[in-house]
Amino acid sequence: MTSALLKITVAGLALMAAGAATAAAPDARKAHEGMIVLDTHFDTPANLGRPEWNIMDRHVEATDGDQVDLPRMIDGGVDGGFFAIFTASGPRTSEGDRAARDFAIRRGVQIREMIAKHADTFSLAITADDAEAAVKQGKRFVFLSMENGYPFERDISLMSAFRSLGVTMMSPVHTKNNDLADSSTDKPEWNGLSPAGKAYVAEANRLGILIDLSHASDAVVRQTVALSKAPIILSHSGMRGVFDHPRNIPDAEAKLIAEKGGVIQINAFNAYMIATPKIPEREAALKELMAGFMSRANMSAQERRDLIARRKEIDARWPVPQATFDDLMKHILHAIKLVGIDHIGISGDFDGGGGIEGFRDITDFPKVTAALLKAGYKAEDIAGLWGGNALRVLRAAQVGAEPGTVPAIPFTN
Ligand SMILES: [Zn+2]
Repeated sequence: MTSALLKITVAGLALMAAGAATAAAPDARKAHEGMIVLDTHFDTPANLGRPEWNIMDRHVEATDGDQVDLPRMIDGGVDGGFFAIFTASGPRTSEGDRAARDFAIRRGVQIREMIAKHADTFSLAITADDAEAAVKQGKRFVFLSMENGYPFERDISLMSAFRSLGVTMMSPVHTKNNDLADSSTDKPEWNGLSPAGKAYVAEANRLGILIDLSHASDAVVRQTVALSKAPIILSHSGMRGVFDHPRNIPDAEAKLIAEKGGVIQINAFNAYMIATPKIPEREAALKELMAGFMSRANMSAQERRDLIARRKEIDARWPVPQATFDDLMKHILHAIKLVGIDHIGISGDFDGGGGIEGFRDITDFPKVTAALLKAGYKAEDIAGLWGGNALRVLRAAQVGAEPGTVPAIPFTN
């Protein structure tokens, strides 16, 4: 009897300890609620075309894979973010470029329609002031961003068209080289920026577009920092000083970005955070499963749940090491110690492959606030990390723009 009771007590204590480690303390929660909290890379727009998907509904990460929606923005104390128009790399031909352009325009319109349909809840943001005004009105702000310059790689004038659609941040390249720049995960082709890539930097400066260099090669980072009149951002990246992966930013380049006033937003993408050995059978099974993944745009809720269940079966059969919340904090704390908390932010890379143990969706954001408070950082500095720093760098990019290129919100929503 006594030993059974003791066992229960020990189990209860262990549970309490686990709870304390994963939930934010009440004062941390209060501090978190008082901050403007944003994520600079939501891949959530990929869900917008799905027939049954609605950002107003609550979804469950474990079963349907989705990581961002309004109910969980409220739970996570998340005020807004940059909603990405992500274009997958494809053929660098006239046809490929046109298809990429059209895809990106449609995606941008879907985001605008999402905002317009829920205008009492969401508000389009072009400037940092817009974001702050939305928060004061009790709304969530939505910036539009582009991941991959493929849609405008051969026609830089399209940047202006995307700017008019509401896009405020653009990255030149994704996981494969394109006509603008080398990718961090491809073989050098231009040894940095191409001539068109240099024109992209100049045009971004002219239009007040914030340049995002996540996924770009180290040489692209060095050249762009030297060339750009405005500071730059890495919207979702890790630290190579913690884990040696080409997708992560080396310490030297991180310092260059910070010295120019820029910001590095730390992501939570498993394979970039810790060593995850490639298992050929697993890769083959995932490749087969993901072959139709771009059709996520049309998936029903049930099809999506089936996909997630099948992915979990692959994970169970060929498990790979999982990064934890502690690994995320290692990247964050290394970055803060290297360049200062004024140059660091957070992006989960949610709905785009991000998510690790203990940091599965946006409801886990308050845990970072709690961990940083516990590590001795001041609430005002943590507020910068959650939003102030990214808004500062956006302001800096827009202040140098040619007059008239950063208008007020072009339409009501
Ligand atoms: Zn990405």
